[in-house]
This record gives sequence, C-alpha cells and structure tokens, in this order.
Amino acid sequence: MSIMSESQSLVSNAVVDEREAALLAPYAMFSRDSLGRRRPENPHPYRGPFQRDRDRILHSSAYRRLSGKMQVFTGEMGDYHRTRLTHTQEVATTARTIGRVLRLNEDLIEALALMHDIGHPPYGHCGEDALDEVMRPFGGFSHNRFALTIVEEMEYRYQRHPGLNLTAEVLAGQADRTEKNKSDRSSLLEVQLVDAADSTAYDAHDTDDAVKLGLVTLEQLQEVALIRQCVEQVREHYSDLSERFLSKAVVHHLVNLQVTDMIEHNVRELRERHFTSATDAMTSGFRIGPSPELADKKRELEGFLFQHVYRHPKLISVRQQAHDKIQTLWGIYVEDPSRLPKKYQLRAEQIGIQVMAAHYIAGMTDRFFEDTYRLMIHSR
Ligand code: MG
Repeated sequence: MSIMSESQSLVSNAVVDEREAALLAPYAMFSRDSLGRRRPENPHPYRGPFQRDRDRILHSSAYRRLSGKMQVFTGEMGDYHRTRLTHTQEVATTARTIGRVLRLNEDLIEALALMHDIGHPPYGHCGEDALDEVMRPFGGFSHNRFALTIVEEMEYRYQRHPGLNLTAEVLAGQADRTEKNKSDRSSLLEVQLVDAADSTAYDAHDTDDAVKLGLVTLEQLQEVALIRQCVEQVREHYSDLSERFLSKAVVHHLVNLQVTDMIEHNVRELRERHFTSATDAMTSGFRIGPSPELADKKRELEGFLFQHVYRHPKLISVRQQAHDKIQTLWGIYVEDPSRLPKKYQLRAEQIGIQVMAAHYIAGMTDRFFEDTYRLMIHSR
C-alpha cells in the first residue's frame, strides 16, 4: 500500500498528510498511500479520501434507512432498544476510541463502521436468512455483500455513473467482511478493529436491551462470568446503587471493560511486533481483538444471549412471521415484475428478477416493508 508514499499522492492533500504524519503509527493506513478510486477524482482541498468516503456514506439513503431497521428487537417492543442506526453509531464511537489510542486512521475507521451494516434487510438476521433461502439457486443473499452492491450500483449521487465511487480501501474492507470465515484473509488493522468493535457493541447493548425489555433479569445474567465480574467491580466502587442504576452501571462497565481490554491487549501486542507499514501489519497474520481471556468470557455471554434472548419466544414469533412475509413478497415480485417500481423493472431485465426482488426488499425499512406487504397482498 505504500507505492505512492515517495511521490505526490493522487487522492490526499498536504493538510491531511501532515496531520496523519504527526498522529498515526507506522502500521496505520495513511491517506496518501490509498490506491484511490475506480473513477479518479481530484484531491479535496481539506478533506482526506477516507473523510470523503465517510461523508458519502453518511449522506446516502441506505444509511438513513438504518434508523427504520431493527437490530435485534422490533419496534413493536417499544422505543428504548437499539436500531441498526444507533448500533452503527455505537460501533463507530467504540472503534474510534480504540483506534485513537492505537494510532490508527480514524477517518478510515469511521467510514468502515458507518458502512458495515447498510446492507441489512428489514427484520435483521431473520430477513437475511429468509432472502438467502429463496435466493439460494440464484447465488444466495448476504447483507455484507449487498452493502457493496448498494455503494457501487444502487446509490445515485452522480449523474455520470451509479455508486459512490469509494476508495479501494473502504471497498476492500467491506469485501473482507463477506469472507469472514476464511482464515487466510488479511485485512488492514482498521478493518479488523471495526469488526472487533462490532462485537464489543452488540455484546453490551443486547445485554442492556434484553434487561430493559424484561426478557432476562440481571440476576439471571450473573450466571455468566463476565457479567458477574462487572457486577462485582461496580459494587466495589458504588455500594449503594438501586437495582435500576446497578444494571445501567453494569452495562457501562461492560463496554468499558471490553474497550480497556482491547486497548491494553493490542497496545502490548503491537509494541512487540514493530510493524513498519500497513501492508506489513496486514500480511503478518496479526489479528486485532480481545485478549484470549476476554474472548472466552465473551463467548460465554454470547452463548447465554443466544439461548435466553435471541431465541426468546417473543422474538421467535416475530421472526417467523417476518420470515414468511419476506418470502411471500419476494414470490409476488418474481411472479409479476410489473409490481416493482419502474426503475427496478428496468434493472430486473439486466440482473434478473429474482436478484432484483431480493435487492428491492433488502433496501426496505421494517415499516416500509410492512406497508408494502399489506398493499401487495390486498391488491393481489
Ligand atoms: Mg453490526
């Protein structure tokens, strides 16, 4: 990634380059080393390439729609819990906090974090599973892959071409997410960090939401070593907390404990390795993540959440209904493409009606999906 570091960068500018030279560690991704964009653009006078990518994602319609998409819990359960938008913001802020201490590129981190979930269909992972099942003969459906389709083909910002024309690094970072289980993949440290921050955020906020919604009690959660540890440490500092403030403090501590662990563990590891460049770190096999001890405890917590929260009867029935409705609506469009909006009918001629129907549904918010489903069923 350092092929341009000796010469004038084609995508960055002096202000950004100077700032990054003063702040970033050698193993961070420097803007001036970016491989640039598919369609070359002149550097911006004061924003770096990753800042521009972040802003393009922030101003996209797919990003705004995250506010209408559920993370784990549906809008019918109230308005306290996280949406996919607030989850995304928690991931971004957690990743930036850690990234700043590790002296990584915060602009790149933020762009990757804001983008990481924009491909999610309505009704979270259940929506994804429903689409993946019907799409299996046509290549399947993955929210991570769909995020790339959105930023490359479906967002319209420029008259001359579709897509947001993002940098190679942001696109590659999202592409890495689609191959999560491939052990031989190598990613920039910023990409790895966003991945780890995603898990930090959902472990903490799903615990919080589940308690607040009454799906589990703090008492039950103390089966889990990590929660027991948080309760004990909170009580050491504040012995007189009421039940309500105890669970709030436990969740805050759960975030803080994970972030502190990630910082201490990775600062130590990175100090020992002396990486000389982003490429050096990326190809070394080193992974940013929690310490092995915390990783074990997180696994236990996630196992508990899976059993007692994600598979809670209240959620299972919502999911089953959503699953069936999504597949029904997909079937309606496939049977009769003229029911799609005009611009998507045209696109269906190029990419196939099955794929187009899945993409159209995947772009919907939970609410828009419900309204459309009702309309389509009644006018059938
Ligand atoms: Mg996420």
